[in-house]
Amino acid sequence: METIKKYPLLIIGAGPAGLTASIYASRYTLPHLVIGEAPGGLMFEAHRICNFPTEKEITGAEITAKIQQQAESLGAPLLIDQVTRISSPPDFQVTTRQGKKLLAENIILATGTQHRQLGLPEEKKFLGRGLSYCATCDALFYRGQTVAVIGGGDSANTASLYLAKIAKKVYQIHRRSQLTGERAWANQVISHPQIEVINEREVIALEGENKLQAIVLNQPYQGKERIPLQGVFVEIGAVPRQDLLTQLELETNAQGYIKVKADQTTSREHIWAAGDITDGSNGLRQIITACSEGAIAAYSVFNSIQKN
Ligand code: NAP
Repeated sequence: METIKKYPLLIIGAGPAGLTASIYASRYTLPHLVIGEAPGGLMFEAHRICNFPTEKEITGAEITAKIQQQAESLGAPLLIDQVTRISSPPDFQVTTRQGKKLLAENIILATGTQHRQLGLPEEKKFLGRGLSYCATCDALFYRGQTVAVIGGGDSANTASLYLAKIAKKVYQIHRRSQLTGERAWANQVISHPQIEVINEREVIALEGENKLQAIVLNQPYQGKERIPLQGVFVEIGAVPRQDLLTQLELETNAQGYIKVKADQTTSREHIWAAGDITDGSNGLRQIITACSEGAIAAYSVFNSIQKN
């Protein structure tokens, strides 16, 4: 019979929360494994980060590499795979997409969020044919072209600023009368000569034959409700990843984020949660707060194991 390896701690998610939890767990000499689909998570996609202490300006890819190297240098094994199933205690049995089975006494769930979609029927048809959820990944396909960014928070603002270096013209469309997020980014967007901010409008349709050719607004802008373009970047925030939460029946808030206490405990014993997937850190979802929650979660697991 196959023996299944058992870990005192399994960290699911390899973004800033999961990797920091691993760094702390290693320093507490807590044997553990990190399983993540891709190092960095959504952090990897950020093209400019200017608010992380010690890094005046850094890309998501660079900061991911740094945190990953630090975690791995402390001996933390990282398994690139997706957890598809977690069965119930006493020990958690974890199954991955690649068919691995593992046992865990304690779990830190740090699976983060995924891009929110517009919810338009044509969204799927144009994905990769003019529609993208990641400016860092796809901007270079639009050199010298006209694009639109949808959204008004930091993701949209930083995407517009990045695209303005590559595209000929960037429309930023958002539904409020003012951009939100960090004022520093919003001010750069507003004063950028290649970015045209369209306030109080929503995109209600995407048009084109095989490729995206135009977007339709809910109200005319400068007399027209249709804007011809080659690319649309949907940057309207993120939603918590639900698959494992539902299986584990964890208590969530109305928006679907896992409810955590100050020590990152969840509604279920032996399951901690950290990073963007939680309702912690006063709702401030940043790399630094994800790292902080990861550190606290590892500390709490360590204390719990010591006690028992
Ligand atoms: P966000 O702050 O939640 O902003 C989402 C934006 O999309 C808002 O303008 C929102 O409008 C709009 N929106 C939501 N649903 C929409 C819909 N169906 N149709 C049209 N517009 C819609 O999300 P985010 O910008 O992704 O930022 C998330 C977190 O990551 C924040 O903490 C942010 O600071 C951080 N972040 C940081 C950086 C950086 O510093 N480099 C970059 C990216 C993200 P309403 O306000 O009207 O809902």
